[in-house]
Amino acid sequence: MDDTSDIVAVGFGPANLALAIAVEEHNAAAAPEHRLRARFLERQPRFGWHRGMLLADATMQISFLKDLVTLRNPGSRFTFLTYLHERSRLVDFINHKTLFPTRLEFHDYLDWAAAEFADRVEYGATVTDIRPVVAGEQVVALDVVAEGPAGRVVRRARNVVIGTGIEPVLPHGITRSPRVWHSSELLDRLSGPEGRAATAFAVIGAGQSSAEVAAYLHQQVPDSQVHAIFSRYGYSPADDSPFANRVFDPAAVDEFFAAPESVKEKFLHYHGNTNYSVVDVELIEDLYRRVYRERVAGHRRLHIHHLSQVTRVDERGDGVVLRVQAMAGETGHDLAVDVVVCATGYRPMEPDVVLGGVADLCKRTGSGLFRIERDYRITTGDNVHCGIYLQGGTEHSHGLSSSLLSTSAVRAGEIVDSVAAGRKERAGVRS
Ligand SMILES: Cc1cc2nc3c(=O)[nH]c(=O)nc-3n(C[C@H](O)[C@H](O)[C@H](O)COP(=O)(O)OP(=O)(O)OC[C@H]3O[C@@H](n4cnc5c(N)ncnc54)[C@H](O)[C@@H]3O)c2cc1C
Repeated sequence: MDDTSDIVAVGFGPANLALAIAVEEHNAAAAPEHRLRARFLERQPRFGWHRGMLLADATMQISFLKDLVTLRNPGSRFTFLTYLHERSRLVDFINHKTLFPTRLEFHDYLDWAAAEFADRVEYGATVTDIRPVVAGEQVVALDVVAEGPAGRVVRRARNVVIGTGIEPVLPHGITRSPRVWHSSELLDRLSGPEGRAATAFAVIGAGQSSAEVAAYLHQQVPDSQVHAIFSRYGYSPADDSPFANRVFDPAAVDEFFAAPESVKEKFLHYHGNTNYSVVDVELIEDLYRRVYRERVAGHRRLHIHHLSQVTRVDERGDGVVLRVQAMAGETGHDLAVDVVVCATGYRPMEPDVVLGGVADLCKRTGSGLFRIERDYRITTGDNVHCGIYLQGGTEHSHGLSSSLLSTSAVRAGEIVDSVAAGRKERAGVRS
């Protein structure tokens, strides 16, 4: 039997989980000769979606209706509503009157869906390279190379879908240590020795994660002192108003993709405040109330250092000393804490990290970014008869929803349609 899969997907986060479901639903409706074989390689030992930030009260920033499937197929058995029904919580959820479940509950939904595909996912497998399989001058398949606990595995595919997500970013000059963390590892680190003993924290950053971390530490760690440090004057609210929210509609992807470069730039500039360096307004108000209450009581634990930058981080034995520089003046002061949490965001994982031996087959724009077709396939030369698709890392071509969940159901369906069409085309050529 030919061991070449139609799809080998790199990463098994929500994006490629949505793809797994789209493949399953395509196969259920397709004639046997048009069914697709897909397998998945995931570096984590089990399914997990931003586990380090599954904070007790944190809620989703999209409606549950933007789950893994509903926008593509509301009749799917993988909807959030079916999950609630199976967990016997549907009625209770309705009474809750919310579109925004907690992140913990959404994680449980994703985990529930992922469990259905356990036989197609290789966990603990980190993809390190993709190599072209060549016949004459033609690239006819791709070998995806992964390292895992059992050693190296190579999986051959006609198409690769890269869904490696985002990676944490630390401020320039700051490195991770047992006392200097990125917010993505918060819960793991808090349960470690330094975390359990800590009561004084600095939280650097002004986005959603930083506000969530400051609120969480202030509330959960008894008698903690929490210093929020950022260069803005205040936290800025996320624009989730209805007209602005349309930038995350599937139709916005078409408009963005077709727009000239100058319009794409404006689009990203006008609506960056739907996602970047912004905070849910309820959380901003909650933090403000806490600061004010403490001022009234004369016992301050939550400190906001605005218009401020951290210019030095010195670890000293049992703590960290930060140099906090006021931006609107010459003044600065030293701040001693037990732990520093850098809630300084993420960037899309560079596809080059996994593309390895096929990176040179991929065409780039003048500014060095991958040239992406509407179906999320990287443009390659005519001699490449395989598809290399990106789920994420396509903000420059497909717009703001690239790294988010908003369009993942629809995008997964579009990729499956494209792969299925390519398969039919090849079958037609052969017959
Ligand atoms: C705390 C937090 C909350 C968020 N909340 C929301 C929200 O409410 N709504 C929203 O739309 N977006 C949210 N986001 C944005 C987030 O990017 C998406 O929710 C989602 O994670 C995107 O899914 P993904 O599958 O593309 O990426 P990821 O979830 O990052 O998954 C990528 C997967 O690829 C794996 N991987 C990476 N490299 C390799 C490799 N070389 N080999 C094998 N596997 C690899 C990773 O281990 C990971 O499991 C949030 C982000 C964070 C950090």
